[in-house]
Amino acid sequence: MEFINEDYIFSLLKDESLKEKELQKDIIQKAKEAKGLTLRESAALLNIEDKELLEELFYTAKEVKEKIYGSRLVLFAPLYVTNACVNNCLYCAFRRDNKELKRKTLSIEEIKGETEFLVKQGHKRILLVAGESLKNSSLDYIGEAIRTMYEVHINGGNIRRINVNVAPLSIDGFKTLKSFGIGTYQCFQETYHYETYVKMHPDGPKKDFAWRLYAMDRALQAGIDDVGIGALFGLTDYKFETLAMLSHAFNLDEKYGIGPHTISVPRLEPALNAPVSHKPPFAVDDLSFKKIVAVLRLAVPYTGIILSTRERPELRRELFSLGVSQISAGSRTSPGAYRESQESLNEYEMQQFQLGDHRSLDEVVRDCCQLGFLPSFCTACYRSQRTGDRFMEFAKSGTIHFMCSPNALSTFKEYIIDYASEETKKIANDFIQKEIEKLDGPTKTKAIKMIERVDAGERDVYF
Ligand code: SAM
Ligand code: SF4
Repeated sequence: MEFINEDYIFSLLKDESLKEKELQKDIIQKAKEAKGLTLRESAALLNIEDKELLEELFYTAKEVKEKIYGSRLVLFAPLYVTNACVNNCLYCAFRRDNKELKRKTLSIEEIKGETEFLVKQGHKRILLVAGESLKNSSLDYIGEAIRTMYEVHINGGNIRRINVNVAPLSIDGFKTLKSFGIGTYQCFQETYHYETYVKMHPDGPKKDFAWRLYAMDRALQAGIDDVGIGALFGLTDYKFETLAMLSHAFNLDEKYGIGPHTISVPRLEPALNAPVSHKPPFAVDDLSFKKIVAVLRLAVPYTGIILSTRERPELRRELFSLGVSQISAGSRTSPGAYRESQESLNEYEMQQFQLGDHRSLDEVVRDCCQLGFLPSFCTACYRSQRTGDRFMEFAKSGTIHFMCSPNALSTFKEYIIDYASEETKKIANDFIQKEIEKLDGPTKTKAIKMIERVDAGERDVYF
């Protein structure tokens, strides 16, 4: 656990010199180069309280986000396959001691049904989520679930990338998971603060802090080169958590030459019979949450930041411009809920936590366009072997823009033609036109040609 140096992080948090405005201003200037920040510099930015300086921080994060990601926002939906769990995390409704939760593990047929629902909405990326249970979510079951999801094809629509958020595995387990053709392996440390971690995870395999902390090392050693880390904000001081999570990211980069592909920033939400979820010990207010996203964007400019439907729409809009690059939309957090919600299932009895955003994918897409963000359904990098350090090479040299913009536009065009409501179609087509105008040279020509191919009926156009 040497790379989460609690003493060093606490010393940074106590260091009065890191609260000086002049220093903070200099660091913001440096951050504009989009080359990342050290832990010390990140600590100084997390200390900013002054209103004007905060605005400057947010403005700089917006500039860097725009420089690296343009206006693109990648969309995905989670698919919960089981809420059975042997752990007892104090914040989660799936915890073993929650006897009121209706337990459900989807059959392969039901997984097919949920996937069909998402494909018909226009989704191309799924995040498979499961409670930890050898009996209910064995690797064999996860493998069959993934195969089933990839096999669903409806009128040219299909799931083209499946990311996975399941309990940590051994190196051999990760090798098997990789063989299923997954995109990113995600696992959140929840809290990097050891004492808090022990309190929050009283029993079950998850109580082993180090087994979880080294999950990404094992995944990378097993050849999964896109990994996603995260912390559940609200369990301990957000400044500590952000710096510890950055230590994790820097350490992976140093050891393997690949930092995390994504960082997730879930905030604790109320959950059924989950004692700490209703009154988070270190609740994070909206302004601090914006600061977390902005500092992460500047500290690790090339790492995707994922925001879930846990946040309310108004705040999500602000967070998009500060650095978020991927969002979930139209989500449900209980197994079977996509299809069953239409049959008025009492979802609260089965879901993991309450959602703050209940809008459909179509509404989120429309909203993104109106706010100037381009919804992207692109899955090209993973399928063109641009993962791990190859992806970073393209990202850092700026070449990724030549691929991302045309790919985002062609996949969005596909969405508009096949799935958008009449109301969204008009807004989205006008928006695409404006986005094309922003391009020039070969990228523009490429984008126009790819959109023409989609217009002519071709599907899954990417490079
Ligand atoms: N069971 C696996 C695990 O714990 O790693 C994977 C699935 S778990 C359902 C996915 C994530 O949900 C957890 O890592 C945690 O961060 C998040 N989560 C749990 N309870 C939550 C709550 N009350 N509010 C927000 N997020 C929560
Ligand atoms: Fe189980 Fe994961 Fe929920 Fe913990 S967070 S109770 S391990 S599903």
